[in-house]
Amino acid sequence: MVSQLPPFPLPLPQYQAWMDRAIALARQAGHAGEIPVGALLLDSQNRVLATGENRKERERDPTAHAEMVAIRRGCRRRQDWHLLGCTLVVTLEPCPMCAGAILQARVGLLVYGAAEPKPARSPRC
Ligand SMILES: [Zn+2]
Repeated sequence: MVSQLPPFPLPLPQYQAWMDRAIALARQAGHAGEIPVGALLLDSQNRVLATGENRKERERDPTAHAEMVAIRRGCRRRQDWHLLGCTLVVTLEPCPMCAGAILQARVGLLVYGAAEPKPARSPRC
């Protein structure tokens, strides 16, 4: 319920617009034979710093989750592994690996669309 959410820095419709972009990335991944997950990394000025989509099958890389792809691209673009003040918008609740990367990169805010029902037993991003 919206009333139980902590206050977001921006109005919720803005996050919905970014989520729509993340969903479009997820659809592209799905059309390419991937599990459809998309992510958008925003800088501290809420500009798109990087995007990511699940690429595990195409890259033959078990770590190529949408969040990891967006974080790697964002770090490369920034030339810094610190993503302080950044917001990560992702379509699915991050798995433990991605949650760890989000913490390690110091991402300021995480917004995800759907909860992963069994994150500890069967991460499916
Ligand atoms: Zn993940």
